[in-house]
Amino acid sequence: MKSNRQFVIPFKGLKIGKHEFVFDIDDKFFEDFPESEITKGNVHVEVELDKKSTMLQFEFRLTGSATVICDRCLDNLELPVEYETELFVNFGDETEEQTDEIIVLSHNEYELDIAQFIYEYIHFSLPYKRVHPDDENGESTCNKEMLKKLDEYIIHENENNTDPRWDDLKNLLNQN
Ligand SMILES: [Zn+2]
Repeated sequence: MKSNRQFVIPFKGLKIGKHEFVFDIDDKFFEDFPESEITKGNVHVEVELDKKSTMLQFEFRLTGSATVICDRCLDNLELPVEYETELFVNFGDETEEQTDEIIVLSHNEYELDIAQFIYEYIHFSLPYKRVHPDDENGESTCNKEMLKKLDEYIIHENENNTDPRWDDLKNLLNQN
């Protein structure tokens, strides 16, 4: 059970109209998500809630940075986070997520924990390919020490596994 109530919006008690919320997320936020690919992050989150009589309309604006592991050198890679999205909350018989942008809450609900949404939006903002960019000379800015170590490790790994093509050749020679 999550004990952090920092991101819970008690919408039931709010007046009809617009309400603003601001959150500043740091490394600690990601500790609540052990499966996260993000190891560190600093993200400023602005949330505007437009409460209407029958629905809630959220607007999210995220800016900041998040650190993931580089796909090539496995060192830390800091990426910018820039994301804007809307979330529509309707009310129905039971709580369900209809799409990324539309959820339905049961009429009994009176608050919404938006931490999971913020977590997902930060991930949506990250590029699919997570590799240190090249510098102005076209040289990779990956951690060279790490790449060297990885190379050594891979060569070492291969020493223990014989190439199956050699096995085929050996078998062929043994037959004659
Ligand atoms: Zn890298």
